[in-house]
Amino acid sequence: MPYACIMSVPNQISCVDCGGIASLISFLPPDTTIEPGTALAYRCADCNERFDVVFEAEDLD
Ligand SMILES: [Zn+2]
Repeated sequence: MPYACIMSVPNQISCVDCGGIASLISFLPPDTTIEPGTALAYRCADCNERFDVVFEAEDLD
């Protein structure tokens, strides 16, 4: 079964509300593997909004 390691997950994404920088806030142990369907939480530094991003297989290539 294909999977990607944590290194392929972005630490920061663009906030969909304000366009600011949302940083990863989910706690991920070093040996965590991200499989399709895994949800990670991000929080925007500008508007303080929290986003749960579900990674799909195409995001992890
Ligand atoms: Zn924002």
